[in-house]
Amino acid sequence: MKTTEVARAIEKHLPLADRLFKELEAKTKDGVGITRHGYGPNENVAYELFQQTGRSLGLEVTNDAAGNLYLTLPGKKRDGTAVMIGSHMDSVPHGGNFDGAAGIVGGIVAAATIRETGLTPDHDITVMGIRCEESPWFGIAFVGSKLALGLLPIGEIDTLKRSDTGRTLAQHMADIGLDPNALRKQKAPHLAAKRLKGYLELHIEQGPLLINRGIPIGIATGIRGYVRWPEARCIGRYDHASAVPRSYRSDAVLAVTELLHGLDRLWSEKDAANADEGAVFTVGKMFTDPTLSAMSKVPGEVSFTLNCGSTATSTLDDFRRYVYGTAKTISEQRRVSFDLKREVNNNPTVMDPGLRQKVAGAAKAFGIPSIDMATVGHDASIFTQAGVPSTVILMRNDKGSHNPDEEMEMSDFALGTQVLAWTLADMK
Ligand SMILES: [Zn+2]
Repeated sequence: MKTTEVARAIEKHLPLADRLFKELEAKTKDGVGITRHGYGPNENVAYELFQQTGRSLGLEVTNDAAGNLYLTLPGKKRDGTAVMIGSHMDSVPHGGNFDGAAGIVGGIVAAATIRETGLTPDHDITVMGIRCEESPWFGIAFVGSKLALGLLPIGEIDTLKRSDTGRTLAQHMADIGLDPNALRKQKAPHLAAKRLKGYLELHIEQGPLLINRGIPIGIATGIRGYVRWPEARCIGRYDHASAVPRSYRSDAVLAVTELLHGLDRLWSEKDAANADEGAVFTVGKMFTDPTLSAMSKVPGEVSFTLNCGSTATSTLDDFRRYVYGTAKTISEQRRVSFDLKREVNNNPTVMDPGLRQKVAGAAKAFGIPSIDMATVGHDASIFTQAGVPSTVILMRNDKGSHNPDEEMEMSDFALGTQVLAWTLADMK
């Protein structure tokens, strides 16, 4: 197989890819952006579209009790071993058209390309259209892949409720024609991790790095873990703003500001040392009580959230140590108390080095510049947890993701799909 052949076959399939994106957009527009609820009618629109496309391209079409879609290019050995490629069919509310969908369309084009170049892989190549990856709907992410791999207790389909309807996951499954009982009765997960040679996900980049550096492809080194404090508070004392001298104050705003400033400094030191490029730190919410605070009062209380992320466990540990240690010091110096409440955390996921090397080799074969980079939560983390070697191929795109303005040039999509197809061919 030659790179020129692959590039030509992909070029030929670009009108099909373009048509799929356009049809998906037209059918799942919500007036602001795109909405495809996990286990909702618009996710089914994507399912139907991809199913029909797989059929028309001669791929084997199957599904599982959780409603995930599988389009398979048969390999020489039909022993159930497969390389899985895919992404998710749902979107966030008022999201964009490409987050998720690009991976499935890219997978379909890559599978069709491999067949067209006359290569029959040793094992099956399966494109998976995954249900309900995004977290807003049922409060947890990766529902479809977890159900397929047996990483979600089945009982949860009766306890997880959709945030806006209050109805259970099982009820929503039934609404779109799935049979929750089939899942409840299932004796083993649909996918046996040991039969999967790898999981590859093509996905638009969700940050600004590739577009700003002029690099078309990112290869995921890891998925950021996090340590978060979603309900933190700092309690000081309300006082007269003009009457109380500095040394008598318990100013909650200044105390929190000092903590955040210190965290920002720690983050910038990590960036400067290039010790861990994947480190991020965000305060998404911070507010005083509007009923108790006033311009003429020393603020007596601040509520805030802390969200520290990294692909390195040691960096998350550094953030955690800093938060607890510095909150204690500031409390003593500024006469306040911090009530950080519950800490939630998630370990980073390391992407498979062997698979990353194959992806890098594929990009090199085509002369496509690529960089290693950290990424955010994807179904690839669930496949990794199940023991399947995985990585994510990130495609340059403008305007980020999870917003209606998501953009992806078809020329960049073509490059991502070339890298994907070549990697798949290399996994024979
Ligand atoms: Zn996504």
